Amino acid sequence: MPDFCAAYGCSNRRCLQTRTRGITFHMFPKTEERRRQWELALRRDGFVSSGKTLLCSEHFRSEDFDRTGQTVWLKDGVVPTIFNFPAHLQRPEATRSTTTSRRAEDEPQPNVVSILNVAKTREMVIDFRRVRTSPLPLCILGEDVAVVEDYKYLGVHLDNGLNWRINTDAVHKKGY
Ligand SMILES: [Zn+2]
Repeated sequence: MPDFCAAYGCSNRRCLQTRTRGITFHMFPKTEERRRQWELALRRDGFVSSGKTLLCSEHFRSEDFDRTGQTVWLKDGVVPTIFNFPAHLQRPEATRSTTTSRRAEDEPQPNVVSILNVAKTREMVIDFRRVRTSPLPLCILGEDVAVVEDYKYLGVHLDNGLNWRINTDAVHKKGY
């Protein structure tokens, strides 16, 4: 049995493709209480994890990870929070009932995965400085965004030198 992610609507499994995308797989916590927190976070009816149940890294925030070593670990006590739930499973969390105890960081975050496909996101750096420093890779939900030198956006070929050569060539080719 291949290692599939147990999250609702997630089809990630441990394979070369997910590895090159930087997706890691994490076992459910060993302690009863924390494992229950994860099981509840999944919002799957009657779901019980086994010793082999995995969740992929897409359900955790980037700050949930410890990336200092060779292996990517989840920090102690983190709970998965990012899921692509169907409408009937989306409900506000019961613990957020009083407004007075709410701090800004407790505000529910929009589900980033449902509005942004990180695998299809590209970063193009436009930098005309004389001495260029390469920027740190852009990381969304634990995944590095691919950097490109040119990109076709809304039918127009843009490149990081902001010149029109690629676009003109493409238009010219179409003319034949
Ligand atoms: Zn997953």
